[in-house]
Amino acid sequence: MDASIYFSEEHTLLREQIRRFVDQEVLPHADQWERDGMVPRDVLRQMGELGFFGIRYEEQYGGSDLDTLATLVLAEELGRSGYGGFTITVLVHTDMASPHLANAGTPEQKAKYLPGIIKGDLISAVAVTEPDAGSDVAGLKTRAKRDGDHWVLNGSKMFITNGVHGDVYFVAARTDPDAEGSRGISMFIVEKDTPGFRVGQTLDKMGWRSSDTAELVFEDCRVPAENMLGAENRGFYAIMQNFQNERMVLGGMAMAEAQRAIDLTVEYVRERKAFGGVLWDKQAIRQRLAKLSADVAAGRELTRHAAWLDSQGRDCVKEVSMVKAYCGEVTNRVTYDCQQFHGGFGYMRESAIHRMVGDARIQAIGGGATEVMLEEIAKRM
Ligand SMILES: Cc1cc2nc3c(=O)[nH]c(=O)nc-3n(C[C@H](O)[C@H](O)[C@H](O)COP(=O)(O)OP(=O)(O)OC[C@H]3O[C@@H](n4cnc5c(N)ncnc54)[C@H](O)[C@@H]3O)c2cc1C
Repeated sequence: MDASIYFSEEHTLLREQIRRFVDQEVLPHADQWERDGMVPRDVLRQMGELGFFGIRYEEQYGGSDLDTLATLVLAEELGRSGYGGFTITVLVHTDMASPHLANAGTPEQKAKYLPGIIKGDLISAVAVTEPDAGSDVAGLKTRAKRDGDHWVLNGSKMFITNGVHGDVYFVAARTDPDAEGSRGISMFIVEKDTPGFRVGQTLDKMGWRSSDTAELVFEDCRVPAENMLGAENRGFYAIMQNFQNERMVLGGMAMAEAQRAIDLTVEYVRERKAFGGVLWDKQAIRQRLAKLSADVAAGRELTRHAAWLDSQGRDCVKEVSMVKAYCGEVTNRVTYDCQQFHGGFGYMRESAIHRMVGDARIQAIGGGATEVMLEEIAKRM
């Protein structure tokens, strides 16, 4: 375990427990999950039973009531698996979707859904992005219209992680059509079997192969009024607030994956022979790997610092935006060069580095694209 000023004994014990789980229960099977395009439900249930899905949630619902740094430990240790599809399946559930409920839910809503989410009986998804609104969340068009004691949803959502295999969806829709942009958006809890709600299509991706990604369709989907999540017309602000946690865990995951790619590559070039020696003997190669290793260490520490700021209740929007912008680009640089140093083997589907290149690409696009993050930083300069 690496030394760090940020983590306590409790964090280290959690890290060891997750690492053991990943080594024993994930690594031997994850290639099969990549082929299947999904992570089996019993693995997710097992993780729920071990307490990995309720790290920061209140004990009364089955959570552990730990802090932001504990969340980062989860992201780092899952990321270290080198299987982005598995990692994102879990992190969307624990840190991108279910926080909407934990932060804004009424006691009744939390009592109804949170215990199942924490146990892994209910897998969650968050549906904000639409075919015509991604980075620009305020441009979303899915409409929710009040009808008696229901809201009626019409519209579609795009690129939704856990979209096919989810049980409960936190969905953003426009409740006030006259309000401009970010005003007039609300969040709803939509259960899988709600009439009028269906998966449009399963999407085929470049990476994150074991994570399911879908288009969702809402056609006169009647959602009980008590399933509105948070205050009416305040959904945009809840989404923005939750983005901070989302971006932090993506940074932690990205740096752990990048470190894994470097470790694999160092191992490879120490063995691979060319021109009378091993590749590691070539100064150009080992210095490049040393440089990338420093970049990853910088990203990892920046992410830990942002998590620490958050755990202290301090504003960390600028730091988290830096995390997302920096780590998303670094993991792409790292995996690109690591693939290069693997030569032709790195281009083969069977090689781990091939998978990691595909997984890394989305880190600069999803959950806040690099350019959008740079704008957030610039606004605070
Ligand atoms: C595999 C995957 C899983 C996902 N999971 C989810 C999910 O679970 N839930 C969910 O709601 N969404 C999800 N998304 C959506 C994801 O967050 C969006 O794809 C992302 O926010 C970018 O939006 P967009 O695709 O519409 O790109 P666009 O917003 O169209 O951006 C296209 C390009 O333009 C650039 N750009 C945009 N605005 C600016 C600007 N102001 N200045 C400079 N450049 C700019 C962007 O950086 C990007 O490079 C997922 C996406 C993928 C691919």
